[in-house]
Amino acid sequence: MSEPFSTPRIIGHYQGPEPGPLVIAIGGLHGNEPAGVQALERLFELLEEEPQINPGFSFRGELIALRGNLAALGQGVRFIDQDLNRIWNPERIDALQAARSIPFEEDDANSEEEELLQLLAAIEIAIEESQPERIVFLDIHTTTAQGGIFTITGDDNFSLQIGTELYAPVIKGMLEGIKYTALHYFQSDRFGKNIEVAALCFEAGQHNEPESVDRALAATINLLRAVGCVQNADVRTLHDELLQRYAATLPVMTQLSYVHHITAADEFKMHPGYLNFQAIKSGEELATDRNGPILAPQSGYLLMPLYQQLGDEGFFIVQDFSLGVAY
Ligand SMILES: [Zn+2]
Repeated sequence: MSEPFSTPRIIGHYQGPEPGPLVIAIGGLHGNEPAGVQALERLFELLEEEPQINPGFSFRGELIALRGNLAALGQGVRFIDQDLNRIWNPERIDALQAARSIPFEEDDANSEEEELLQLLAAIEIAIEESQPERIVFLDIHTTTAQGGIFTITGDDNFSLQIGTELYAPVIKGMLEGIKYTALHYFQSDRFGKNIEVAALCFEAGQHNEPESVDRALAATINLLRAVGCVQNADVRTLHDELLQRYAATLPVMTQLSYVHHITAADEFKMHPGYLNFQAIKSGEELATDRNGPILAPQSGYLLMPLYQQLGDEGFFIVQDFSLGVAY
């Protein structure tokens, strides 16, 4: 078993003695969301302790955990130049990587593009070394509003199946509402057609709630169990119950049905007090912008109402979805 090691970018890289998937986890793609980073740091402490308290412990596969937006994390802001979770554009990445391969060639990468290239370099090296048959990507976030504990996955069965095992509501179809997120990138064939890839995003709660760190840790351990890296009895925390108790009152699976896109010029202002998964009625006034009131175009549950200055989406609406229902 290799010794865990860390750098400013790499929280830890754990290689188990037995074969298994390569799990790539990122915290802090948004610099004002440090909970994911803290959860992954604690996970590596737990993995270090585990063999001492649990002599039968054996890790299958490999786990690499990365800090997302280092510059923005340092300043505690969502981003410096551009949202790091909206720029995973394969064409732009190819162009930047090509420019970087030419000595002394200058390029116009901004702060987040620089972060993206460094993240991809770490990810590509890990894949190259590990030669995995399966990659599981986990991207950990938090939200401005309270109550935002949920999992976003692609619509592929591998991702959906893992998603339901994190003990949080799963939201389908989010990738259709936005573009160029890390999840989109991992869902494509970028790492080769022979590698099966699952990609999930876990929203751990409000940015500054201490419980968001606990929930992110619990969800990450649940994911490691779901994909067979650790067994049920391994790496036990008391946070599982926290997650399950919370999720018990929320819809199990929903599907994105509406996105309210905004620009800074809109002067969008969400009405105060809205929570994630709050039931809303069609026609309800949710917000205002420079053109007047903004009414809910449909009934459903509200998701990620925007209560911060920076953002490209004012709110999302999701509706109940159950597997097996034709759509
Ligand atoms: Zn985020």
